[in-house]
Amino acid sequence: MLSFNYKCSQCDTVYEISPELMLCPDCSCRHKPGQPLSGVLEVELKGTLTSSNPLEFLPVEAEFFPTIPVGNTPLWHPQNLVQKHGFPELYFKDDGVNPTGSLKDRASFLVAAFARKHAVREVVVASTGNAGSSMAGVGAAAGLKVKLVLPKTAPPAKMIQALQYGADVVLAEKNYDQAFALSLEYSRTRGGMNRNTAYNPMTIEGKKTVAIEIFNQLAADSAAGKAPDHVFVGVGDGVIISGIYKGFRDLLQLGRISKIPTIHAVQASGSAAIFRAMESGTFDGQAASTVADSISVDVPSNGLLALKNLRAHNGRCLTVTDDEILSAQQELSSNCGLFSEPAAATAYAGFLKQKSTLDSSEICVVLLTGNGLKDIASAAKKIVMPENAINSLDEI
Ligand SMILES: *Cc1c(COP(=O)(O)O)cnc(C)c1O
Repeated sequence: MLSFNYKCSQCDTVYEISPELMLCPDCSCRHKPGQPLSGVLEVELKGTLTSSNPLEFLPVEAEFFPTIPVGNTPLWHPQNLVQKHGFPELYFKDDGVNPTGSLKDRASFLVAAFARKHAVREVVVASTGNAGSSMAGVGAAAGLKVKLVLPKTAPPAKMIQALQYGADVVLAEKNYDQAFALSLEYSRTRGGMNRNTAYNPMTIEGKKTVAIEIFNQLAADSAAGKAPDHVFVGVGDGVIISGIYKGFRDLLQLGRISKIPTIHAVQASGSAAIFRAMESGTFDGQAASTVADSISVDVPSNGLLALKNLRAHNGRCLTVTDDEILSAQQELSSNCGLFSEPAAATAYAGFLKQKSTLDSSEICVVLLTGNGLKDIASAAKKIVMPENAINSLDEI
């Protein structure tokens, strides 16, 4: 049996898990405007576990899980790309097939279960995209009210997805920072659980299930499990990579694996705050701009923990251009029938850039975090639309 508590990722203070506690009270006081969150809490587990079921690694009991099939996504092993690159152990984890089309559902699922466990009826989230539509969909299945605070410039497709799931959408006049502040004020003064990414510790913890699934799926005998050598991940706020590290760290702690895989944090060159901080040690707040909107972030909310994890486990950080992202997206679709959104294809662009430095016999997993149909405008930049309609085949 496992037991769980929170631990501050900066000062290591241990806290009991509670729905009122989001950041370490001490470290969060030292937060400076324009910087990543301070005092992000991680869930720490104790005890032993024989099961390999990822849901049993979570700090909320199964009776509170909403009945929506999040996770358990396929691990592809597409022979065309395996042969093209000469990497017999190249795999793609397709999290774009989650119910709302992105890996964010793993976080929303655990936040929803956590809210239900503590009889919280409403969840509040500020988001520019997938996190909001994910919470709206998973929240609908969990019977929760979802309040979404979006900057008024948010992409209409993601707003429509959230409204379709029945979320209450409030528009912030200025930008994402304002939406973030308003959502915090709302949950503080009017109630509801806040699901802002990294701020709510369950967002990191929920995302770890993808690492445990990969471990289970790579073994021919799933009771055994097998760790990959490399995992490629598109990075914006740094929550997904921190969740992946957490999943592999849990597996290491429980004696299932003997080393943490090399994680490759892939950023768009126009949104590379973590890449720059890996070198300089500081977050400069530079305005981000990339075709991969889901990883376009000026100040990564989980930047400090992402950096700490990458440094502690010899992770690599690299950037790819928008053109490399769109080419990788197209290569993936046209070679194996996987249509991923640009932020997800970023991970594959990272593999393409790194592969000459890797041993081709190693196990490489590319994490595809979102579905391509979420953002058709970006994919349209690389394809040629048919122009003229015909009346007879002679005109072809
Ligand atoms: C959120 C998101 C990411 C990046 O996750 P971070 O935790 O912000 O680093 C990557 N791809 C997709 C599709 C996403 O929605």
